[in-house]
Order: sequence, then C-alpha cells, then structure tokens
Amino acid sequence: MIKRTLEQISEMITGAKFELQFANKVVTGVSINTREIQSGNLFVPLKGENRDGHEFVHDAFKQGASVTLWQKDVPNPPQDVPIIFVDDTLEALQQLAGKYREQLPIKVVAVTGSNGKTTTKDILAGLLSVNYKVQKTQGNFNNHIGLPLTLLSLKEDTEVAVLEMGMSDFGEIDLLTKLAKPDVALITNIGDAHLQDLGSREGIAKAKLEIVNGLKDNGLFVYPGDEPLLKEQLVSITKPIRTKTFGKSTNNDFYANQIEFNDSGTAFKTNVTDLTFHLPFLGEYNVMNALAAMIVANEFGVSYPMMNTAFAQIKLTEMRMEITRGINGAQILNDAYNASPTSVKAVIDLVATLSGFSRKIVVLGDMLELGPKEKQFHIEIGEYINPNKIQYVFTYGKLASYIAEGARTNFEQDRVFSFEDKQELIKKLQTYLDENSFVLVKASRGMRLEEVVEAIKEEF
Ligand code: ATP
Ligand code: MG
Repeated sequence: MIKRTLEQISEMITGAKFELQFANKVVTGVSINTREIQSGNLFVPLKGENRDGHEFVHDAFKQGASVTLWQKDVPNPPQDVPIIFVDDTLEALQQLAGKYREQLPIKVVAVTGSNGKTTTKDILAGLLSVNYKVQKTQGNFNNHIGLPLTLLSLKEDTEVAVLEMGMSDFGEIDLLTKLAKPDVALITNIGDAHLQDLGSREGIAKAKLEIVNGLKDNGLFVYPGDEPLLKEQLVSITKPIRTKTFGKSTNNDFYANQIEFNDSGTAFKTNVTDLTFHLPFLGEYNVMNALAAMIVANEFGVSYPMMNTAFAQIKLTEMRMEITRGINGAQILNDAYNASPTSVKAVIDLVATLSGFSRKIVVLGDMLELGPKEKQFHIEIGEYINPNKIQYVFTYGKLASYIAEGARTNFEQDRVFSFEDKQELIKKLQTYLDENSFVLVKASRGMRLEEVVEAIKEEF
C-alpha cells in the first residue's frame, strides 16, 4: 500500500496545503472509515448522504491515523494535528490514487461489463498468479471510491493488478480507467443491467467502451466478439489499440466448443490448443468468462497447461454459482448474488440442461433497477422457462410475481407459486426437497435470497 510522507502526498494533490512542521510525517495506507482504520493511515473524510466524514476526524486520530485530509470549505478544522487541506476530499482521493498508480511499475488489467466482472477478475487473478505477484480488487470495491482505495492498497512489489470497474451511468468508467491507466482492458459482456440510467443496450455498450479511454497506447482490448454493438461502436475509437475477441462463434480469436457440464464443474475445448479445460464451477457464461481471462493470461505468457492447473484452484467470490448440499439430499445452486434478465436466462438455460434430477425448481426474486420496462422483463422471464425442463417455479417479491404470471402461460397452475413472505416460501419449498431435487436460487442482491439458501441448506 502507499507509503509516503505528508509532503509527498500533498505534492500528488493539486491545491493541497499543509503546515511545514508536519512535512515529514509518514503515511502508510489510506482509510475512509474510522472503524477499519489501521495505525499510520491517511484518513480521508468523505461527505456521505447522511453523515460527513469530517465529524470523525477526531476519532480517526484516536484509532491511529497519522494524517487526515480536510476539505477547505468545512469550518473548524482541529488544531495541532497533521492535516492536508484540499479543495475536495473525494477528488483528492482519486487524484492521489491516479498519481500513485503512475509511480508504480506494475501492469494493470481493467475488467468491466454488465455481468461477470467479479468472476472474470477472480479467474484471471488465479491464472496470472502462476507467474506473477498479483493483487485484485477485493469483493466489489469497483466504483469511484472503491477503485481509488484499491489502487492505493497496491503493494510496491505487486507485478499485476486485476481491477474491477463498475458503473451505472456515463462517465463513470471514463473516470476509473483514466485513474488506473490499464495495459489491458476487458469487457465481459453487454447485458440489460442498469437500463434505468443508460436508456438502451447501445447506451450500455457506449458506457462500457469508455474503458478504452484510459488504455495505454498499443494496449490490448479484449471483448465479446459476438456482441455486434461493441464492434459497431469500436470503429469510432481512433487511438492505437490492439484487440482480441472471445465468444462462441468461430469468428472469434478465442472460441470454446464441446462445453459439457458434470458434477464437478464444466469441461470445454477451444480453438487455441487441443487441451480439454476443466472449470470447478458451472455455467456456459463462466466458460466465456474463462475464455476472456485466458486471452489475457496468454498475453502475459502463461501456458495453457498451467492455466488448466490454475483453474482447479480458483475460488469464486461467494454466492456466484455456488453448489451446496440441501436438506433431504437436494442440490442447491446459490446464485443469489445478483440478477438481470440476461443472467437469469443464462442460468435457467444451464439448469435446463442438467440431467439426473426429476424435480428442478427455480426460486426467483425481483430483478431490480430495470427502469420503466421492469414489469415486461419479469413477464418475459416467466414465459422463457420451459415447463418440459423445469418442474416448479417459485417467486419472491412484487416484481417477481410477474415472472409467475409469465410462467403460468406455459405451466399448469399447481407448478407455479408466488410469495411476498419469505418464510412462507421457505415452508412450502422445504416440502419439495429430496435427493431428486435441484434448486436454483437467484434474485437481485437487495432481495436477500441467500436467506432462503440458509434455510434449506444441510445442517452440519
Ligand atoms: P456486480 O455488478 O454486482 O459487481 P459482476 O459483474 O461482478 O456483478 P459477477 O459477480 O461475476 O458479476 O456475477 C454475478 C452473476 O452474473 C453470476 O452469478 C451469474 O449469474 C451472472 N454472470 C456471470 N458471468 C456472466 C456472463 N458472462 N454473462 C451473463 N451472466 C453472467
Ligand atoms: Mg462484481
């Protein structure tokens, strides 16, 4: 993590002012939260919706902070403590992160996309760890605050940083990529997520493509070649970049075929080697995430046999396609981390292809943040579920009741259940579980469907 004197830090932020007596005070690491502060940290008080971090500066010093930022327009700064006065604490945090990144000799890979960012980041970090000291975004620290903090946490001896970049509006990825200055930029996919703010899929593609704005000259841009919107908009980019595509169709630089699912995960072949690859998790889209990661790992000189070995070790961040034992011998697929129309359809397809279960149940909750067409999106999911492949549909939540409505156009009434009360859903679901059952649980994060998983998980 960053280690600099107060004076050096000030030089990295435009308009920063400090008292000379504190110039040599050393800062190690940065924190925005007094509960997580570590001794020696620079405290950055941010103005939140409810509270202003400046109220906690006193606390921060008590917890061991060595220096604090202070926004010039906030009255009554504390006396006789090491302070750097700045015009805007959030901008200062971002500038500091950008400057720190410039001073590090590391390679940066930036990952964005509607779905699969965290998964692809985790896979790629696993592959690169074979040959390099790798650091990656922790959890979901992928926004205008999380990404700067991630950059500032990079160690001096880290060789490659794999960074996730999230967004919900235009201009956000532009900011993040210009701070991170990636050597490689990757878009996982273009989905329907956040239609609310971006208006259309074209809008989403345009916003994601902002990732190229910070890409180094002649840097590599990796994207899904089967997504026409990206291809179309890519022509307007004039800076010198190299591109490589991945996908299912044979037009791509890297494509996968012979994808097969089994109890231990997914097997697939590619056009780039004769090897059969094995992933310890399910989902065709995870093969796509793996392919994207393989292109980048290949760029960094990791061999295909080594990638295959590395795949076996990869652990995905929780609640993403996690397979768990349920009560009465049922199998549970916990994908309660989030949901959008694309990702729900993808995972329904996957469940449909699984064999060996006579009772496949999908438990689906609301997909949030879909804008004015949200009702229609839910109805379409319901209509999409194939009654010959899936036996029961359970829904939770007001919007998800439209999934039930859509499903009832194809399913008999006694195979579709709609709930507004989680406990009632759990009670009913429990009566359907035995060794022939496979249960998919998926919804937007806000629906907290992991509570359903907890309730039907096998107790140890
Ligand atoms: P967030 O925006 O919340 O950070 P994310 O982009 O990081 O999400 P992941 O956490 O990797 O995405 O995956 C979330 C879910 O999205 C997965 O559990 C899966 O259902 C779905 N998903 C993952 N990869 C893809 C993909 N390539 N295409 C479509 N859906 C995907
Ligand atoms: Mg994520």
